[in-house]
Amino acid sequence: MTTEFNQLSLDPELVQVVAELEYVNPTKVQAQVIPLMLEGRDVIAQSETGSGKTAAFALPMLQNLERGCKPRKVQALVLTPTRELAIQVAEAIARYGRHLQVEVMAVYGGQQYATSKARLKRGMDIIVGTPGRLQDLMRQGILELDGVRTLVLDEADEMLSMGFIEDIENILSQTPVERQTTLFSATISRTVRGLADKYMRDPQSVTIEHKQMTVATTEQRYYLVNEEDKLAALTRLIEVEEMGATLIFTRTRAGSARLANELVQRGVTAEALNGDLAQEARMHVMNRFRSGQLKVLVATDVAARGLDIEDISHVINYDLPNDPEAYVHRIGRTGRAGKDGVAITLVTPRERYVLNRIEGFTKHKIDQAQLPTEAQVYAHREERLVHKLTTWLERDRSKRELEIVNELVAQGQDPLKVAAAALKMARSGENQRPVEKIGEPVLVKRSRERGPRDRSERPAGKGKSARKPTAIRSSRSSITSVEEGMVRLSLERGRVHGVRPGEVVGTIASCANIPGSAIGKIFIEDQHTLLDVQEEYISRVLGHTGAYSFRDQANVAIRRA
Ligand code: AMP
Repeated sequence: MTTEFNQLSLDPELVQVVAELEYVNPTKVQAQVIPLMLEGRDVIAQSETGSGKTAAFALPMLQNLERGCKPRKVQALVLTPTRELAIQVAEAIARYGRHLQVEVMAVYGGQQYATSKARLKRGMDIIVGTPGRLQDLMRQGILELDGVRTLVLDEADEMLSMGFIEDIENILSQTPVERQTTLFSATISRTVRGLADKYMRDPQSVTIEHKQMTVATTEQRYYLVNEEDKLAALTRLIEVEEMGATLIFTRTRAGSARLANELVQRGVTAEALNGDLAQEARMHVMNRFRSGQLKVLVATDVAARGLDIEDISHVINYDLPNDPEAYVHRIGRTGRAGKDGVAITLVTPRERYVLNRIEGFTKHKIDQAQLPTEAQVYAHREERLVHKLTTWLERDRSKRELEIVNELVAQGQDPLKVAAAALKMARSGENQRPVEKIGEPVLVKRSRERGPRDRSERPAGKGKSARKPTAIRSSRSSITSVEEGMVRLSLERGRVHGVRPGEVVGTIASCANIPGSAIGKIFIEDQHTLLDVQEEYISRVLGHTGAYSFRDQANVAIRRA
């Protein structure tokens, strides 16, 4: 098959594999990055999940490998912010390299050291890993990087916002200076640029226009609605919109389970995608969703990570995301592969400013739309009923039913009245579902005006400036008081052990696979560290206790304070 991939000077084995994967043409980022990487240039690419960035770096990386080296040395290294992404990228590279007999391995926190050691000893060509674990393996002398020819920083902005800067710099400094370095990032912030300036040689920039990156084929709109009316609003939208597979985002995991339940009670096939589901159970839910048996998946940002589904027609932000980048990530899941998608956001009057921030970030105005009125929902139900009825009439497959009608007419019933009564019966289920009332959106002044997501007081939250101070320690009470929705944990390493806030965020976020922004205030005491973590992530963090390594100390315990 002739495709544009033939024109990229890729080896036949790689052209073959993309053809087998049924990629017809390279995506924009692939068309730009592949030739540059094949020429040996360093590249900074602004692009994100869904843009085809993995193949953009994996194909040239595979082509640039030197074959048959003995002993086998790690020749390519990919750094990723999370364990999920490391696994996903390693799997993708193995897929793209399946005709080349390459050895690829993902390394991440929580893995057995013995397993990594054994596999590394056998020899690896490509390693994909999270910075913390990579450093551990290097310190223990299990992993050597002196043969690295290609290095990729994937989702560099995420890694930096998780506090990995020192680990990244340390890893980079242990690879040969003549290596090729490529950086992928959804946003090119000053810190990302700074990292590139320091470690890359005359990097070529590839920018996938923001609009194309996120929203080219996605219609975006929002509905202003009171917090207590959100469920009713969502139900109306689901009834009236022509929706295919729909992904709904909630803020908390408990919220996703609750919402899925409410939707099921309203006759919608919905399920919550829980990040803790065993792989098999997750696959089962995903397969039902893919096959259309399940219309709606409800998920948090964390649970939706690594979700790889092409045909999502609607993304609904039931709760607003934490930050504009998360919004871009969320809605990037619809409108893929040139298909139309719809992104709907429910916004409460108090959250309007968040919407402004999103619009500023995406440089795209999100239109306000009006919820369907009660009358419109009822009218829509009738339209659907008539449509269904017409379909049945066209099919002409109601032989026995026609006999019954004839019998009734023979008994003296009016045929029109028979038809009306039958319709009434058909609608009985629907009548049990009255359209819920929705109030006018009003701005209610509450004592806690600030939402629980406000990071202005959270030094360890996402973003560079928010991270600097170690702790707010103006009084003892600030140490004992915990914000609503946060749980205070204690980590058994402190100032005397050289613990830094960035390290706390980076290590915990990557090992427990939670967003760095889920970690709030951090108080580094002499012998231990107190930290606030959003309630929904507590079981994950505690579930990994013993897996955390700080400095040279492995198995560091974390418990409730
Ligand atoms: P990524 O941005 O690397 O996470 O890729 C997103 C999805 O696009 C993955 O499911 C890839 O398999 C798919 N993909 C990557 N490149 C292409 C291509 N050229 N044509 C079609 N699909 C692609």
